[in-house]
Amino acid sequence: MRILVTGGAGFVGSHLCERLIKEGHDVICLDNFFTGSKKNIIHLMDSHFELVRHDIIEPILLEVDRIYNLACPASPVHYQYNPVKTIKTSVAGTINMLGLAKRVRARILQASTSEVYGDPHVHPQTEDYWGNVNPIGIRSCYDEGKRVAETLMMDYHRQNGVDIRIIRIFNTYGPRMAENDGRVVSNFILQALRNEDITVYGDGSQTRSFCYVSDLVEGMIRMMECPGFIGPVNLGNPVENTILEFAEKIIDLTGSKSRIIFNPLPQDDPKQRRPSISLAEEKLGWKPSVTLESGLRMTVEYFVGQIAKR
Ligand code: NAD
Ligand code: UDP
Repeated sequence: MRILVTGGAGFVGSHLCERLIKEGHDVICLDNFFTGSKKNIIHLMDSHFELVRHDIIEPILLEVDRIYNLACPASPVHYQYNPVKTIKTSVAGTINMLGLAKRVRARILQASTSEVYGDPHVHPQTEDYWGNVNPIGIRSCYDEGKRVAETLMMDYHRQNGVDIRIIRIFNTYGPRMAENDGRVVSNFILQALRNEDITVYGDGSQTRSFCYVSDLVEGMIRMMECPGFIGPVNLGNPVENTILEFAEKIIDLTGSKSRIIFNPLPQDDPKQRRPSISLAEEKLGWKPSVTLESGLRMTVEYFVGQIAKR
């Protein structure tokens, strides 16, 4: 098939492009390089891979069979840098991609997020929970943008019969997270490797559940190719840790001399997050297979390599 991956030069997108090419597809990677990098996909350049510099808030016409819509900054630091642009990307960008899907009759998968559950009152989070999102806070440009993107997907499906899939991705980590990404996994690993203070926000009692990127990509492809199931479906690893436990794990794993320090908790930071993955198990036969320890080892190895290159 000919497959479009928007945001394909980013962290998750580059792993997805790599996997799709391995499976024998032709891949078009579309990216504006806001948080993505040519470095992430340069090794894929051959006759089955095309790279287009384009911003999805502008329309584009391409002949494709599948669209994975991943374009959107995912780290709070980056999505809050230009919040209006973040919303435009999720709203105008998703409308453009849905318009394209409608016109060329492509199937489209939207990368949504656990953030649609906000600071959740239901734990673990199930797909039927409508969430607890602050509509006017500093995370809203991302959270509400993704919620509207889900609404747009459903309305194009109901109104125009567009063939859609919606996945809600929970915290995912792995090689090719940018060094300046600002999310917790890359921050803590880089701080540990440099023996700098590890910056825990708040008292570290908030929880997250971390999924290794190859597990996520497997789930994404299964969802895209699953007949008759449009989602939304949670994709994540249900093993839950407090952020303080996570900091200690990274210190152990790297043998670092870093100390843990406590910085202020950002506004609206969710207190707990863990996916229920029963639906993914039932519909897709999917569950993560990479343990946190082995995933973190591979990620540490990647960052050691990045630091050594300088
Ligand atoms: P990332 O920031 O590494 O990748 C996003 C990519 O989209 C980058 O290459 C960026 O340059 C590109 N992009 C941003 N705005 C664009 C625009 N307007 N036009 C074209 N390209 C644009 O983030 P990621 O972690 O790889 O996330 C990928 C997708 O998965 C995002 O949609 C994100 O919301 C979603 N997601 C990720 C996670 C996670 O933990 N990694 C969790 C939930 C959801
Ligand atoms: N966090 C932290 N130190 C950091 C970066 C993040 O303690 O240097 C915390 C953050 O406050 C949140 C959790 O780690 O509670 C996950 O943050 P991230 O930005 O990775 O993703 P989120 O799930 O909040 O979108």
